[in-house]
Order: sequence, then structure tokens, then C-alpha cells
Amino acid sequence: MIIVLLGPPGAGKGTQAKKIEGEFGLTHVATGDLLREAVRRETSLGKQAQDFMLRGRLVPDRIILDLIKNKIRGGASGFLLDGFPRNIIQAEELDELLEAENKKLDLVINLEVNHNEVIDRLNGRVICPECGKTYNVDHFVDEPLVCKDCGSRLSQRSDDNPDAIEERLKVYLRHTLPLIDYYKEKGILLSVSGERSPQEVFHRIVDLLQRVEDVH
Ligand SMILES: [Zn+2]
Repeated sequence: MIIVLLGPPGAGKGTQAKKIEGEFGLTHVATGDLLREAVRRETSLGKQAQDFMLRGRLVPDRIILDLIKNKIRGGASGFLLDGFPRNIIQAEELDELLEAENKKLDLVINLEVNHNEVIDRLNGRVICPECGKTYNVDHFVDEPLVCKDCGSRLSQRSDDNPDAIEERLKVYLRHTLPLIDYYKEKGILLSVSGERSPQEVFHRIVDLLQRVEDVH
């Protein structure tokens, strides 16, 4: 099964991806992680990507697509894509890539969270620099801001400030939102409200995925 996870920044995509990965044995393919790994391992794609990153430029689609292709060819049976595609052009490129590999996208899960809720969440979001776990500052009333899993001091991501948040939401609305119609027309979109607890959202996703698996 190949699944794409969509949703605005702060919708909880990373949290849900980890849970889905464990429950359904899918390989979580997060483009940010793929890029970091390629740069760290100094692969040829990693070096090309780093050139763009060091100049403060966006990494071109063809590099990201090649990273995804390598991962998909790696042999695992199912994938969960998170962070890609971000626009219609990338969605079409992904379709072509999968077709060339004799695969197809089975499902797109769209986590829906309204604009104001997203802004509140991102403004209050703190992240563990060690293990990547995210929290909301509201959950630390009289406690020190440290990670409950590994004890590291939590901090805010540099792009979780109000101006950067507005900018990211603008980009999401302009480029990523049209993907919802794109996948709806293909008949593979499943929308899930992301405005509940992570556990409740996850149960809803499991429920939907099991129904899809039954049909297959
Ligand atoms: Zn941690």
C-alpha cells in the first residue's frame, strides 16, 4: 500500500505517520529526513542537495524525486509519504515515477485542521532537538520544558514564529490545498478531522485503512 499524508503545518502529520508506520508496517518516507540522511551520508544526491541548501535555495524536485525513487526501489512493500507532494506538479511527477515502477498511489489521507487552530498549535509548539518529539507549551504549566522521552531541553523551531507561520500557511493554501481536489477527482482522498487528540485521530485513520484493506 502506498499512502500520501496531507495536511497543513501543525496538523500532526509527523505524529500520525509514526503511528501508522508501526501499525501497518509501512515505511515512513519523510522528505526532510531523506534529505538530511543523504547529506549526512554524503551521497551524490546529498551533495547536490546541500549545494542548494547552503545557498538558501529550495532543493529542486528532481533531486527529491530521485531520493524517493531510491527509497521505493529499496524493496519494502508499503510506503507512507509525508512532505511530498506539495503541489500539483509534484503530484504529477510522483504519479509518473510510480507508474514507471509499476506501482500506484492507493490512498491520500488529508488531516483537516482549521486555520486558527493551526496558528495556535504552531505558536505553542516546542520540539526536542534530540529525538524530534513535539509538544505544546500549554502542557508544561509548572514543569521544566524538557522532553518526557529523553530529558533534553525543548525549544521552538526557528520557523515557528508568527511571521514565518503566516508565510507557511499562505504557501500551503496556494500550492498544497489544490492537491485535495486533484486526489478527490482520482477518488483516492480520505479526509479525517485532525482536531481531536492524536490517539482519537489515529483510531479514525486505522478504522478507514482497515476498510480500504478489506476492499483490496
Ligand atoms: Zn526527546
